[in-house]
Amino acid sequence: MTGTEFDYDLFTIGGGSGGVRASRIAASHGAKVAIAEEYRMGGTCVIRGCVPKKMLVYASMFAEELSHAGHKGWTMGPSSFDWGTLRDFVNGDVDRLEGLYDGTLGNAGVEVHSQRAVITGPNNVRLADGTQITAKNILIATGGWPIVPDFSGNEHCITSNEIFHLDEFPKRLMVMGGGYIAVEFAGIFNALGSEVTLLNRSETILRTYEKDVVDRLPPIMAGRGIDLQMSAQIESVTKNDDGSLTVVLSNGVTKQVDQILVATGRKPNSEGLGLETAGVELGKKGEIPVDAYSKTSCDSIYAVGDVTDRVQLTPVAIREGHAFADTVFGGNPRCVDHSCIPTAVFSQPSIASVGLTEVEAREQYAEVAVYTSDFRPMKNIFSDRAERGLYKMICDGKSGQVIGLHMIGPESAEIIQAAAVAIKAKLTKADFDATTAIHPSMAEELVLLK
Ligand code: NDP
Repeated sequence: MTGTEFDYDLFTIGGGSGGVRASRIAASHGAKVAIAEEYRMGGTCVIRGCVPKKMLVYASMFAEELSHAGHKGWTMGPSSFDWGTLRDFVNGDVDRLEGLYDGTLGNAGVEVHSQRAVITGPNNVRLADGTQITAKNILIATGGWPIVPDFSGNEHCITSNEIFHLDEFPKRLMVMGGGYIAVEFAGIFNALGSEVTLLNRSETILRTYEKDVVDRLPPIMAGRGIDLQMSAQIESVTKNDDGSLTVVLSNGVTKQVDQILVATGRKPNSEGLGLETAGVELGKKGEIPVDAYSKTSCDSIYAVGDVTDRVQLTPVAIREGHAFADTVFGGNPRCVDHSCIPTAVFSQPSIASVGLTEVEAREQYAEVAVYTSDFRPMKNIFSDRAERGLYKMICDGKSGQVIGLHMIGPESAEIIQAAAVAIKAKLTKADFDATTAIHPSMAEELVLLK
C-alpha cells in the first residue's frame, strides 16, 4: 500500500491499547506502519492501570478468604503480608505483558520507535533524537494523565502512576477523590491491612453511577474500617522528619498518614505534541475533538482513546483504534457505537453498570419501569457478612425493553458482561424472566427481579 511520497502510511504516537490495536490492524491491511512510545509499550491499562490494579484486587481478597477459611474447618497457620513480594510479582507480570505487546507489534511488521514523537505538520513527525519522518496519516493515541489539584504540599502526594512501585507498604493511606480509582484503591489497601481514609469533596462518590446502588457502598466501606471524610478537601500537607505526612482537611480534621493517593480524574495527554503545527483543534479540557471516524480537524490526523475524552475505558480505545484502521486502511468505513457500554468499579464489593440510570431513563422515556432484587448473597452468608447486594433493572415502561442494569455485590463485573449482551440486543424484561435461573447463584437474581 505504501505510497512513495511518504515514509509511512501510518505513524502512531502512543503505544497504549488504542494505538497498538490501530497499528497492528492497519499493518494487517497492508499499510506500512510505525509507532512511537516514549515510556513503556502497553500504556496506562497494562503498565499502571487496569491490569496491575486487578492483580492487587485479587491479592487483597486473600486476607478475607484466609480468615474465613479458618472458621470453616481449615487449619490456618499464622499469616502475614509482605508488600514487596506482591509488588514485585505484579510488576514482573506487567513486564511480561509489555513484552507480549512488543512481540505483537513486531509480528505484525510495525516499526517501533522507543522515544517521544511530536507533530511538526499535517504529515510530519519529529522524534526526540531529531529524526524527521513523513506519514500519510498520523494517529494520536497518547492517552491521559492524572490531575493533581492545587493545594499546599501537593508535591508530597502520589497518583496511580506511582502506587504500584512504593518501596514501603503505607500503613496509613489517605485517598483523595470519589471516582473509580479512589474507591478501588481504598478497597485494595484496606483489605491488605492499611488504615485507609477516603476523602471526597462532596457527599456523593461514583457520581455517574446509579444512586441506589452506589448508596450501598459507603456504609459497607465504613463497616470494613475505611474512614470516610465526606464534603472535605485537603487544605495542606506537610512532610514530617520521619517521612510521614500531616494532612489538614477543610472540615477541621487533621491526620497523620504515610502516603496520600490523589485520584481526582485524568486529563487528556495533548500538551506539547505540536498539534498547532497541523491545525489540530483542542477542546476546553485539552481533549482532541474528533468526528465519528476519529478524524481530527486536520484531514490526515486521527485520534483515539482517552486523549479524545469520549469514554475513558480501555475496551473503548481498542474499538476506536480498530475501527479507525478498518476505515482508513481496510476499505471498511465504520464507527464505534458509544452507547450501552458496560463498566465496572472493582470496589469491594464491586459495582457494575450498563445502560441508563433511572434518572437518565426518566428524562428520555415517557414511562419507566424499575425492578430490583435486594438480597444477601450466599457468599456473604457463608462468610458471616451482613452486607447485602442490590440489582436494579430499568425498563422502557411501554415495550418492556431493558435499558439499564446496575449491580452491587460480589462478582458484579463478571455477571454483568453476559447481561450486557442481552441489553445490547434490546431484549425485554419478559426475555429475562423466561430464562431459567441457575440455582444457587447470585446471577439468578437477574431473572427473578420484582
Ligand atoms: P473519576 O472521574 O472517576 O473521578 C474523579 C473524582 O475526583 C470524583 O469523585 C470527583 O468529584 C473528584 N474530583 C475532581 N476534581 C477534584 C478536585 N479538584 N478536588 C477534589 N476532588 C475532585 O476519575 P478517576 O481519577 O477515579 O479515574 C479516571 C478515569 O479512569 C475514570 O473516569 C475511568 O474512566 C477510568 N478508570 C476506569 C476504571 C474501571 O473501569 N474500573 C478504573 C480506574 C479508572 P466529583 O464527583 O465531585 O466531580
